[in-house]
Amino acid sequence: MPLPRFRYVAPESLEAACELLAEHGDRARVMAGGTDLLLRMKRLPRAGAPEVVIGLRGVPGLDTIRIDDGGLSIGALTLLASVAGSTDVNRLCPALASAARSTATVQIRNMGTVVGNLCNASPAADTATPLLVYGASVLLVRPGGERRTVPLEDFFLGPGRTALGPGEIVAEVRVPPPCGRAGSDYQRLSQRSRVDIAAVCVSTLVCLDRDGSAARVRIALGAVAPVPLRAKSAERVLEGRPPTAELVAQAAAAAAREARPISDVRSSGEYRRRMVEVLARRSLVRSASLAGGAA
Ligand SMILES: Cc1cc2nc3c(=O)[nH]c(=O)nc-3n(C[C@H](O)[C@H](O)[C@H](O)COP(=O)(O)OP(=O)(O)OC[C@H]3O[C@@H](n4cnc5c(N)ncnc54)[C@H](O)[C@@H]3O)c2cc1C
Repeated sequence: MPLPRFRYVAPESLEAACELLAEHGDRARVMAGGTDLLLRMKRLPRAGAPEVVIGLRGVPGLDTIRIDDGGLSIGALTLLASVAGSTDVNRLCPALASAARSTATVQIRNMGTVVGNLCNASPAADTATPLLVYGASVLLVRPGGERRTVPLEDFFLGPGRTALGPGEIVAEVRVPPPCGRAGSDYQRLSQRSRVDIAAVCVSTLVCLDRDGSAARVRIALGAVAPVPLRAKSAERVLEGRPPTAELVAQAAAAAAREARPISDVRSSGEYRRRMVEVLARRSLVRSASLAGGAA
């Protein structure tokens, strides 16, 4: 299917991009790598496709991975491939590096960005669950240059819907410094191969106290609800206690109860729920062991 006609504009600053987005409203879309946007434009009926595409490639300094106060900042044009191969990301956020490596194909990873993956707001977005367990937030720029920070947990509103307001663009995603004795992990299940979108994905983080009890536990689930979500009741099963095999199994079962999966071409809802339990248990065992705990 051919692309519908559109005007491509390439502003040289984020502020100019925001002004253009505010000026054209619903008739415009921002483009990073275009791996989601251009496909959707081909599929959309003519009336629904944007008339103006605002490319970010002309804005300098957006393709960076920086260490900020011990945490990470990943710019709006940073490729999935750069995140997958970054020494800093592999050291500070190994579950994010693993998710980026698991996303799509080498061609897509060399076009698509982490921020585009988040802004597309698919419930199955591979990088969303690791960023949720690391407590990430997104820095938004609006017309006039004003900035605001939104916790990633509040960013996803529904399939394809985010907290971005009119004229707002994500400048970067920020991850706070890791806790001391931490282990984290990403698990993904797809029906055919990695080119297929995940049928279920789970990320976990376990931070241990000196006495071996879990000071902080984060569990995030993808593709099993309208948005990527934290399984907070499951986290509470483990927090303040040592991550024994029995408690990990209880937490995984609680995570499966928190999932709200639907049945679709990729999987039945019931299968998804069962796989949440399997993947959550596997992931918690791995995170606890990487943190130096038992499980
Ligand atoms: C063959 C194929 C396989 C794929 N496999 C996977 C997979 O396994 N897992 C997965 O999660 N995804 C997959 N995808 C989807 C896609 O590649 C990823 O979501 C990618 O990370 C999107 O990044 P992008 O830079 O190309 O986004 P774009 O297509 O440029 O943008 C995506 C959306 O975000 C908006 N946007 C982009 N940047 C900003 C910004 N800075 N501020 C505000 N809005 C913005 C755009 O307007 C658009 O609505 C696949 C796609 C294809 C074509």
